[in-house]
Amino acid sequence: MKAITFHGIGDVRTQDVADPKLVDPTDVVLRITTSAVCGSDLHQYRGRGGGLVQPGAIMGHEFMGVIEETGTGVRQFRVGDRVVVPFSVSCGQCEWCRRKLPTQCTTTGRAVFGGRFGHVFGGGQAERIRVPFADHLCEKVAADMPDASALFLGDILATGYACAENAAIRPGEVVAVFGAGPVGLMAIQSAQLFGPARLFAVDRVEYRLALALEFGADPVNLDRGDPVEELRRRTGGIGPDVVLECVGHETPFSQAIGAVRAGGRVSSVGVYVEPSLPFPAREAFFKDLTLTMGICNARNYMTALMSLVRAKRLAPDAIITHTLPLDEAPRGYAIFDRKEDRAVKVMLKP
Ligand code: NAD
Ligand code: ZN
Repeated sequence: MKAITFHGIGDVRTQDVADPKLVDPTDVVLRITTSAVCGSDLHQYRGRGGGLVQPGAIMGHEFMGVIEETGTGVRQFRVGDRVVVPFSVSCGQCEWCRRKLPTQCTTTGRAVFGGRFGHVFGGGQAERIRVPFADHLCEKVAADMPDASALFLGDILATGYACAENAAIRPGEVVAVFGAGPVGLMAIQSAQLFGPARLFAVDRVEYRLALALEFGADPVNLDRGDPVEELRRRTGGIGPDVVLECVGHETPFSQAIGAVRAGGRVSSVGVYVEPSLPFPAREAFFKDLTLTMGICNARNYMTALMSLVRAKRLAPDAIITHTLPLDEAPRGYAIFDRKEDRAVKVMLKP
């Protein structure tokens, strides 16, 4: 089959690789109908947090498809079912899974599809994929729900929603979102569900800020002046009640702490690939702020978010700018990385 494989910084290729096979009785093999390039793929594409992915590994952890084969132990699904799967691989039964922290799954060693973090499970930027623990991981997608609406349930929509939910936004509050990439835009849509009086989006990419504005967030271009000062100025000198960090870098993390009002909340979902980072700890302390961060336990959110998408309260498909064949995935990575051709979210179709 065709798959996108990693070969080094800025180097992903469309290659012929062996078809995945059933290994355990609880596996299914999916014929992938759509996958996507995630901002987390860009970290390894740029060589940040090196050593996590082996050259030759199949990329991608955001995918959905149709079940083509089922292991003998699969009970809930059958061949032909259309499903979407979360980015992290979990068993559903270990101590951590029972505590609803599937990203900490000890059975899989906290694995993520696409060969990251320990155990290697092939990725979803391919024609097919093996999905273990299928009864637990697969979420059925109704026939009338397009791939474009369902795909992001397994990663960026769940992540953006978790970012907003973790911040416990109350009606009437002021919320600022750092990063208007796919995750930030999903966080903006999700924050709207909690009834903020005002929303701001901070980024430097004008066409992404324009999309944020469509979702109801006033743009703050960080290249036109200090975004911390600007947010304070636009909130009567106080600062937003809540700041959502959706970039994954020490600068926006520090700026989030700098911008939030005293007693406010900072919720961060950007991936920090470096083991530690400096941040204004003293300011955070004296501001009495609440800080929450972490990888998204996407599995926990998929069912509820699917209902919200079906009810048109969330429109994840509105951020899709490109739908490319697998052969053009290297170009898809390049434009998403460099923010060329107004790229926001790149979908791949086998
Ligand atoms: P992206 O790279 O397209 O988006 C990042 C955006 O941040 C870009 O638009 C960029 O211009 C902007 N930006 C850069 N510096 C900034 C700054 N100082 N202030 C404000 N904006 C700034 O990628 P994405 O898909 O939106 O992903 C964003 C982050 O979320 C990545 O770190 C990704 O790894 C992470 N992520 C985390 C999880 C999770 O489970 N926690 C899941 C998916 C993605
Ligand atoms: Zn991702």
